[in-house]
Amino acid sequence: MKVIVSGGAGFIGSHLVDALISKGMEVHILDNLVSGQKEYVNPQAHMYVVDIGSEEARKIIMEVRPDAVFHLAAQADVGKSVLYPRYDADINIIGTINMLEACHKAKVKKFIFASTSAVYGNLNRELLSEDEVTIPASYYGLSKLTAESYIRLFYELYRQPYTILRYANVYGPRQMAKGEGGVVAVFFDRIKKGGSINVHGDGKQTRDFIYVKDIVSANLAALTYGNQETIQISTSQKTSINEILSLISDIHGISVARGFTAAREGDIKHSCLCNKKAQHHLNWKPIYNIEDGLKETYAFNIKAESNVNEAKSND
Ligand code: NAD
Repeated sequence: MKVIVSGGAGFIGSHLVDALISKGMEVHILDNLVSGQKEYVNPQAHMYVVDIGSEEARKIIMEVRPDAVFHLAAQADVGKSVLYPRYDADINIIGTINMLEACHKAKVKKFIFASTSAVYGNLNRELLSEDEVTIPASYYGLSKLTAESYIRLFYELYRQPYTILRYANVYGPRQMAKGEGGVVAVFFDRIKKGGSINVHGDGKQTRDFIYVKDIVSANLAALTYGNQETIQISTSQKTSINEILSLISDIHGISVARGFTAAREGDIKHSCLCNKKAQHHLNWKPIYNIEDGLKETYAFNIKAESNVNEAKSND
């Protein structure tokens, strides 16, 4: 099977590429490396440094004629979208339309899209389901929601098959200490640099944290299942920022110093997504609990680094 992964040099995309290659697939990556890292790109993948909104990206899709396209490339920073709404829309809306047009022409059998819980905005419900009202509170949430609508219309008008996956807050190795849902990466970065951790608000706000490998397995399931569906990929478990900090302290073996600052304007108090539809339509459920996911992320971020430092000081 031949696939294209846009954003395949990024945090989630690079893990997806590794999994697809380990399953024996021919993988092509479209990524302009604006936030992606060359060193995370699997050497067995065909890498094209291109913008998803370009004519060149369309040509590559036409030439490769993949069976499926995973569209993960995006402007994924909520704060940046608020500062630069047009830039955000150019990538997340116009870029997605460019991909869709090329996929339709190349007769791609499945378009799998990385969407987000940000489409719901500040609903503050205990547990959100896919048919909840969507009132985005950022241009990022709005641009992803608009891209979703284009994908649905490309099916209605051109019969371009799709699955839309709305991810909860993803964390794991290779995540940069910024962007959407990057709180775990930010905390590990602070530990690495030896500083105290700054918590916005009282730390009692909760999120649905999902480990990156579970996001990868959901994407793989979408190759076969979930046709023309919009599905939340989540753990359905709430974890507070204070709980994350305690778990990190336990794993690290020493208490992590923390300070509290004023809550950020517009921050959502609680966000948790129901994953029943994913279990039913994708035949998928998450494997990782938060402790195991954090342990693997810690091993990547902190342990690996201190081993390198130890080796250096022994030289
Ligand atoms: P990331 O920034 O690590 O990855 C995005 C990748 O897209 C990067 O490699 C970047 O270089 C590439 N890219 C950006 N603009 C591009 C363009 N115009 N042309 C070509 N390539 C471009 O982000 P991530 O966290 O891995 O997110 C991947 C996807 O998952 C995004 O679509 C994001 O919106 C979605 N998502 C992420 C989370 C999360 O918690 N990380 C949650 C919900 C949804």
